[in-house]
Amino acid sequence: MLKQNLIDCDVIIIGAGVIGASVALALSRRGLKTLNVDTLPAAGYGSTSASSAVVRPFYAALEACALAHESRHHWTCWPEFLDATDERGYAEYTECGMMVLLAEGDEARLGANFEAMDEVGVAYSRLTPDQVLERLPGLNMGSFGPPKLPDDPAFGIANPRPLAGGLFIPQAGYVSDPQLAAHNLQRAAEAHGAEFRFNTRIDAIMRANGRVTGLTTEAGQTLEAPVVVNVAGPHSSKINAMAGIEDDMRTTTRPLRHEVAHVPAPGSFRLDRGACVLADGDAGVYLRPEVGGHMLIGTLDPECDGQDIVDADDYNPELTEQWTRQVWRTAQRFPELAIPNTAQGVVGLYDLSDDWMPIYDRSSLDGFYMAIGTSGNQFKNAPMIGPLMAALIVACEDGQDHDREPVQFVLPHLGRAIDLGFFSRLREAHSEGSGTVLA
Ligand SMILES: Cc1cc2nc3c(=O)[nH]c(=O)nc-3n(C[C@H](O)[C@H](O)[C@H](O)COP(=O)(O)OP(=O)(O)OC[C@H]3O[C@@H](n4cnc5c(N)ncnc54)[C@H](O)[C@@H]3O)c2cc1C
Repeated sequence: MLKQNLIDCDVIIIGAGVIGASVALALSRRGLKTLNVDTLPAAGYGSTSASSAVVRPFYAALEACALAHESRHHWTCWPEFLDATDERGYAEYTECGMMVLLAEGDEARLGANFEAMDEVGVAYSRLTPDQVLERLPGLNMGSFGPPKLPDDPAFGIANPRPLAGGLFIPQAGYVSDPQLAAHNLQRAAEAHGAEFRFNTRIDAIMRANGRVTGLTTEAGQTLEAPVVVNVAGPHSSKINAMAGIEDDMRTTTRPLRHEVAHVPAPGSFRLDRGACVLADGDAGVYLRPEVGGHMLIGTLDPECDGQDIVDADDYNPELTEQWTRQVWRTAQRFPELAIPNTAQGVVGLYDLSDDWMPIYDRSSLDGFYMAIGTSGNQFKNAPMIGPLMAALIVACEDGQDHDREPVQFVLPHLGRAIDLGFFSRLREAHSEGSGTVLA
């Protein structure tokens, strides 16, 4: 068992985004002394702050669906989950539901998603095109897929057959303020003795005799601990390189640049008129309503766009052509959308893994763990990733050979176990997903 006889603390967590703060809370609830170190000035200022924060159980893999559905439960009672006060108030979860638009053939292609939801007990209903329109009036139910670039002569020309209908999942929604959610987790962790150190960049990982021993900061300070967790978001591969642990990893990570457009919502797509999260694979976008009559438009990374893989310390922070593509694709679906002259929105980085699934695992270096590769879709799981990582770390430190005998993690609300081998760095890429952020 991890002991509390250490020089600086029991566990150092690199990163204080929503996942790093969740890991701190879960470990400190177990009585361990944690220290989060982050380059930025406050919790959740990294990729977390750009998040669309959509919460949905729509995944092709059973483990991913179960983890998301469990986590949704904790968002519904967030203050109780935290069991601590925050002078800034609490992030709020809005359960507006999620609509997945289905083109011809999608029903069969998404078979694994239906199976996973059935197995986990997620409620959903299949809707005809007319029923979709009852819920979301103003939609053009034409089919335009596969998504194209706006300068493609076929852009905006509808296919002969319209969309086949939709799938509605009532227990889905979004969190109002992802950065505040990270701050909430920080405050809850601090109530258990956790420490957070900001404006501090890690530039080396120390090791001795096959085990991590701590790290050094850019300012030259040494911090010692027997356990270090890489939760550095889009910088995860840089931290792994410092630790020298990439050789045995079959799944690796890299930063993928993403833009999310913020535009005035068409009149029919407002929260007070029943707007919900919308996944539109046919147009290649996802949308969600925002208070104040706005909506967010993210991309589902259609093949024609390519991937904008960047250096996490050197990338274009401005909105570009990507913004225009997303807004134009949305205008196919919402003919009444007014396209603003001035682009507004956010630029953020996904920490992309090979199969769009995260890596929650130990590493080849004893004592060095990773909660990385969140691939634009793990904000929703923040309440449970902390407890999951805590279970994994404690089991490994107690001597369990997780690579051979994976830890089984019990989801407390659903009362079912998931095999954490699913998230292993040693896995062959999972093939059941869509190869997009929907995973
Ligand atoms: C545009 C966008 C939209 C998204 N939409 C959704 C969504 O709708 N639903 C969903 O579930 N998920 C979504 N996600 C994904 C989700 O937001 C992320 O998975 C999650 O926020 C990652 O949190 P994190 O704590 O791992 O990383 P981060 O928030 O990036 O935190 C990592 C921290 O590590 C720090 N760090 C890095 N290197 C160092 C170093 N050397 N020394 C010290 N500190 C360091 C950084 O400063 C940073 O604060 C989206 C992500 C983006 C970018």
